[in-house]
Amino acid sequence: MSAPFVIVGGGLAASKAAQTLRDEGYEGDLVVVTGEPHRPYERPPLSKDYLRGDAGRGALFTVDEEWYRQNADLRVGTPATGLDTAAHRVALADGSGLDYAKLILATGSSPRALPVPGADLRGVHLLRTVEDADLLAAELKGGEGRVVIVGDGWIGMEVAASARQLGRDVTLFGMGAQPLERVLGPEMGLVFAQLHLDKGVDLHRRTEIAKIVGEDGRAVGVETTDGERVDADLVLVAVGVVPNAGLAAAAGL
Ligand SMILES: Cc1cc2nc3c(=O)[nH]c(=O)nc-3n(C[C@H](O)[C@H](O)[C@H](O)COP(=O)(O)OP(=O)(O)OC[C@H]3O[C@@H](n4cnc5c(N)ncnc54)[C@H](O)[C@@H]3O)c2cc1C
Repeated sequence: MSAPFVIVGGGLAASKAAQTLRDEGYEGDLVVVTGEPHRPYERPPLSKDYLRGDAGRGALFTVDEEWYRQNADLRVGTPATGLDTAAHRVALADGSGLDYAKLILATGSSPRALPVPGADLRGVHLLRTVEDADLLAAELKGGEGRVVIVGDGWIGMEVAASARQLGRDVTLFGMGAQPLERVLGPEMGLVFAQLHLDKGVDLHRRTEIAKIVGEDGRAVGVETTDGERVDADLVLVAVGVVPNAGLAAAAGL
């Protein structure tokens, strides 16, 4: 029996690669290995309708469980821990190994941490997985104080919009002259800045966070490098991503 086509990853790239292989007529064995506890899904709703509770989990998945039953051997909660390209073998966290004929690494990226004191306090959130979104949604809907968002990219701006729609007071800190400046340029950045200001977001531009302030192990505010303090009952850190390139790098790719 020939070795399978193996896809490592649990996001949209893994999902679409698996579907495309079948759509294009690949008939051999297909294994999808993901570190997450469910089948591959897409993340855009996590900062928008899913976060607000306007869409359920079903909206996240590109194909249903039945598709995997019929088309692929899906291994959830099983991160790949090693890759030997000469032997055509992937090592898995459960101690097993998987030979492959062909391999796609679709390991995506992880949120960048904020390198300041207090970033590990309770009440400080990152947003990448559906579990992150569930935790954030519970605190957004259950709390009353100010939501502080650090980061003026898409995720920070989208969560600010969702939090305002949920009735929360929001302060957003960004280091750019305008939010979204690096992706859209200053003119469009200004349009989004004005939109958020009009919707009641307390927007701070060209501002750097020096620390997240805690009490009894929980975040209660942030302090800027200018010494300004803003109270918060939850903090979202959305300052970009780092590629999950460890597997590829260790294999010399
Ligand atoms: C909240 C949020 C909102 C977004 N909104 C938009 C939007 O509106 N429009 C847009 O275009 N983009 C949006 N994005 C970005 C978009 O989701 C990403 O571009 C997309 O997720 C990239 O897909 P991917 O499959 O390449 O990687 P990822 O989604 O990062 O998936 C990588 C997967 O690989 C898994 N993995 C990593 N290492 C291993 C390993 N060693 N073994 C097994 N599995 C592993 C990870 O657990 C993960 O499941 C958003 C992202 C987020 C987080």
